[in-house]
Parts: sequence; structure tokens; C-alpha cells
Amino acid sequence: LGPTVTVGEILVEIMATTIGTGFLAAQPLLGPFPSGAPAIFIDQVARIGGAAGIVAAVGDDDFGTLNVERLRADGVDVSAIATIAGKPTGSAFVRYRNDGARDFVFNIAHSAAGETRMTAAAHKLIARAGHVHVMGSAFAIPGIAEILVEAVGSVKARGGSVSFDPNIRKELVQDGAGRRLIDDMLAVTDLLLPSGDELLVAAGLATEEAAVQHLLGLGIGEIVLKRGSDGSTHFSRAFGRVDCPAFTVDEIDPTGAGDCFGAAYLTSRRAGLPPARALLYANAAGARTVMKQGPMEGVSNKAALDDFIAAAGRELK
Ligand code: ATP
Repeated sequence: LGPTVTVGEILVEIMATTIGTGFLAAQPLLGPFPSGAPAIFIDQVARIGGAAGIVAAVGDDDFGTLNVERLRADGVDVSAIATIAGKPTGSAFVRYRNDGARDFVFNIAHSAAGETRMTAAAHKLIARAGHVHVMGSAFAIPGIAEILVEAVGSVKARGGSVSFDPNIRKELVQDGAGRRLIDDMLAVTDLLLPSGDELLVAAGLATEEAAVQHLLGLGIGEIVLKRGSDGSTHFSRAFGRVDCPAFTVDEIDPTGAGDCFGAAYLTSRRAGLPPARALLYANAAGARTVMKQGPMEGVSNKAALDDFIAAAGRELK
């Protein structure tokens, strides 16, 4: 089947170089770095060797060009990224607190991403897609939400598959619309990629075991739980439970780990690898992402992942 396609926001990230002072004092800044969860995800799909495309919109500016050219160079089909005159590419400014926590100043609400539409190019890409990856966060942008719903319907009608990263803000789930949105997505999801408490929130249940059984009962083929520096776990009826410990690395910048993990897992499974091997690639992709400053700077190709796995003595027989 055709390429993995996603729909969503593209932006740049610019980082403070001080800790604790925020942006209250002038300082050298780091960046701009290409960013946006859907962009990071699709870049990792392409870098590990999968066919990949994205429906998105950027401004007619350097930030947009920086992103599009990176994605193009890494092998992503950028034909459905529209350039919007008169709207800027979105940006996120990151500052660090003394305890290591991060705060973001987002300029996205009025950026070109809000002008993402089902253009002829988007329609053409989606008509060829074999898989759609959906991020819960993308539903916050109305134009993007509509395209996602259409893309999911189109791909499923042609026998394709859907992955869902339910990174929806908890407050959204408490209101009826957010809950409905999650339930509608769960009904068509083949691969669910939650992290933290998203598994319990998605299922509306209190324990991991109950949540997994409920979600598999809905017809979801595979659930892969991301556990940060504790690694990851696969659950399915076909393979049961498969745990994969994390690689031990120094975390420099956590942004993008979950997206690279999901992309590496999905692409490995689409290439026919069994869950244990796909988890290994996914953990390696997540680990390599956190070692580098910049959301998309740690995205690895397959050879780099193979070397990393071998160097850690983690090859599977
Ligand atoms: P984010 O929202 O920050 O992109 P996430 O919460 O969706 O991430 P995480 O569980 O943080 O996802 O990370 C995904 C995977 O990346 C983990 O399952 C793990 O394999 C790897 N990973 C993340 N952080 C680390 C770390 N500090 N050390 C080693 N591996 C890590």
C-alpha cells in the first residue's frame, strides 16, 4: 500500500540559552530549528526508509523554507505543503526553568498552519496514502481536523491503516466534544501510541491492564505505550505483551522523542518487522532524539539506528 501520510502544523523552535532567566534578559538564542510534531514524525518515517508525505501550510518566509527544504532533503513528499501569502510560519520559543522544566511561547494560532486546507495537491497525496497518522493535538486546529477526518475515511475505505497518538489535553477530554473525538478515533485506530497517562485517559479506566483489554476489545490491533526513560511496551492479541527497556543516554532535549519513536515503530511494522524488533528501532530512535538539541536534529536514518543498537549490544537474534 501507499505512503504514510500525516496532516498538521509545521513551525520553527527557537531556544533560550540561559536557565531560569527566561526571555527577560537579552541573550544569544539557539535556532531556528524545524519543528512541529507532525513534521518531526513524518521526517522520521522518511529517514528510516518509509514512503512519507505531509499535508500542511507554511508562510512565504525563511522559517517555512527551512522546514520544507529539510523535509524534502530527508525524502518526504512535500507536494501537499501549501505556501500561504500574508501569513507567517508558526514559531515556538522555549525557555528553561531552574528545575529543568520548559515553558513555550507559541505563535501558532494566527500562523499559516491555520490556513491548512484540502487543496488539489492534498487530495492527490491522500488518495495514494496507505496509512494515516493522527495526532490528537492536531484537532485543536479546525482546518487540520477536517482534513484528518477525511483522510482517515479515505484510507480506511481503501483497506489502509491508521495510527493515533492521543496527545489530547486532558481539559479537552472532560468536555463531551473532546471525549467524542477520542472515541471516534479509537473506533478506526489500528495502532495506538499513548504515553504517560494517555492510555488510561483514552480508555477512561483506572488501571493499565483494564485499559489495554478494553482498547484491544474495541478492535485496535496494537497498543504501544511510551514510557520515557523506562522504555516501551507493546500489547496485542496476536503477540501478547512485549517489553523493551530504554537505551541509557544523556537527555539533552526531550522534544520529539515520542514522535520519532512512533514513526520508527510504525515504519518498521509496515516493513514487516515483528513487534520486538520494531520496539528496538523505536526505542533507539527516541533515545537518539533526546541526545540532540533541537526537535528534528536527532532524527536518525536506519544505518545510524543499526549502529546505535549494535554499540549498545542490543541486537536481537
Ligand atoms: P514527547 O511528547 O516528549 O515527544 P512522549 O511522551 O510521547 O514524548 P516518551 O515516552 O517521552 O514519549 O519518549 C518516547 C520514547 O523515546 C520512549 O519510549 C523511549 O524509548 C525513548 N526515550 C525518551 N526519553 C528517553 C530517555 N531519557 N532515555 C532513553 N530513551 C528515551
